[in-house]
Amino acid sequence: MTALLLDGKYVAQLTEANLTERVAALKAKTGNRTPVLATILVGDDPASATYVRMKANACRRIGMESMAIELPASTKTNALLSQIEQLNANPDVHGILLQHPVPSHIDERAAFDMIALEKDVDGVTCLGFGRMSMGESAYGCATPQGIMRLLEHYELSLSGLHAVVVGRSPILGKPMSMMMLQANATVTICHSRTRDLESHIRQADLVVGAVGRPEFIRADWIKDGAIVVDAGYHPGGVGDIELTPLIDRVKAYTPVPGGVGPMTINTLIMQTVQSGEKAFA
Ligand code: NAP
Repeated sequence: MTALLLDGKYVAQLTEANLTERVAALKAKTGNRTPVLATILVGDDPASATYVRMKANACRRIGMESMAIELPASTKTNALLSQIEQLNANPDVHGILLQHPVPSHIDERAAFDMIALEKDVDGVTCLGFGRMSMGESAYGCATPQGIMRLLEHYELSLSGLHAVVVGRSPILGKPMSMMMLQANATVTICHSRTRDLESHIRQADLVVGAVGRPEFIRADWIKDGAIVVDAGYHPGGVGDIELTPLIDRVKAYTPVPGGVGPMTINTLIMQTVQSGEKAFA
């Protein structure tokens, strides 16, 4: 069996071409205004700084503006909350990204939940999560929404499939599971206390690796013909799933890199453009 490669890099590029046109149309309509994504980086973690820079670059590529807010690692929760309140009240800002993780002394959940629903383009608020889970409108959490968009692009229907999501973090595993449930999959959510993980994965028609450990999910746990989605990315270019032995016996898989990663940033900028379009309507 030749597996279908779920090419996130390609789908992201395709979407960027469309977003570039939409931003240009907004500029023409508003006298040169564009949607604006405000990014907040707290502290000086180099990986987080890189992610924020990549997000600003993606905005630039589609002709959209971003506003970089950098706060010292010593920032207290209250100061961060007031910064977010200011951005909520700023009519020139259409989306707010708080880069995860923030330093451990900050109440990250409180900070995420301070983001106004209509500017929650990264899909991190409890309100947005609840609405999405109930099938109401809300911007999806960027990584799992990017995965759903990738599966949709390749016309892979989830209806009736048994999806096994390994990981239950607020920004990935949990929203992923709810999105797949909304798409009529039967969903099993596994985590660090799951007993006999292998037996769950053996039943999966679709596996999502969202564990954060290199090649933790072994290829021989995954059945022939399954769909394999790997959100992980680790040094050496491997993900959370042992991928190489699977390539000639699964139905479809996301490469690492070039699968889920590009779709995350792409979803963030797409949702910011959507928010701008609503604001300028
Ligand atoms: P996280 O917050 O560390 O969550 C990891 C999850 O894995 C937790 O729910 C944890 O369970 C579970 N887990 C840990 N050990 C396990 C075990 N032995 N068996 C089963 N489950 C286990 O990580 P995350 O932020 O969700 O990220 C997960 C992966 O996705 C990472 O590789 C990360 O780099 C990647 N990621 C990629 C993108 C992207 O844009 N491509 C974005 C975000 C994350 P407990 O809840 O019980 O602790």
